[in-house]
Amino acid sequence: MAFGEPALPVHPLEPTMRPGPRTAPGYDPDPMTDSALESVRAEVVACRRCPRLVEWREEVARTKVARFAGWEYWGRPVPGFGDPAAGVLIVGLAPAAHGGNRTGRIFTGDRSGDFLFASLYRTGFANQPNSEHRDDGLRLDGAYVAATVRCAPPGNRPTPAERDACLPFLVRELQLLSDVRTMVTLGSFAWDGALRAVAALGHRARPRPRFGHLAEADVGPYTLLGAFHPSQQNTFTGKLTPDMLDAVFRRAREITTP
Ligand code: SF4
Repeated sequence: MAFGEPALPVHPLEPTMRPGPRTAPGYDPDPMTDSALESVRAEVVACRRCPRLVEWREEVARTKVARFAGWEYWGRPVPGFGDPAAGVLIVGLAPAAHGGNRTGRIFTGDRSGDFLFASLYRTGFANQPNSEHRDDGLRLDGAYVAATVRCAPPGNRPTPAERDACLPFLVRELQLLSDVRTMVTLGSFAWDGALRAVAALGHRARPRPRFGHLAEADVGPYTLLGAFHPSQQNTFTGKLTPDMLDAVFRRAREITTP
């Protein structure tokens, strides 16, 4: 692989992408191949569609911060990561400037990721609680992690145009992760992104469901499940505790497991 991670195991996709109940009438998906998920990852890594984010992610990678001065930053978009047979798709906001944008793996190398992967470990979705770099041995079982926007944005605030430019990657992952039944959205931006992604597949929620911690919304074949984002602002203040995040992933497993 061009971007330094072990190749994803090949997932046995259906010959045509989910023409059944998961795809709404009128939606006409492209035929996909077994390597389509890997192709999406490669396209993400090569993407330069948003000039402001390209400039920012590369500038951060050049200037770094003192504590990571010895690192060669990734400085590119960060692809999704996890189990191609996942039943749970976890959606974040965007990579952190000195987390995913440094390590090249989503939620890896920052405090938010520490909090998230510790919870995934406790709830049986990860083989280890830590996530430090791309070769640290972390494997997910039943979960795939992605972001609404794949480049680190200044101030963690992508523009609506950047969100819209990046959303097709999430839509395509959703198509390809054909076992996904539950989308755990970390924060309201991801909740909105997930609603937009499922709408792009022809599944619209009326009325539009509101984000909240442990909020649930059935949209087409998916259940959206809200969780407060594991940002330091939320975890340091106690707005989000380990037990609260564990409850979300336990609920995700309940929904996903027949
Ligand atoms: Fe490409 Fe998404 Fe990054 Fe924009 S945010 S440059 S669409 S990967």
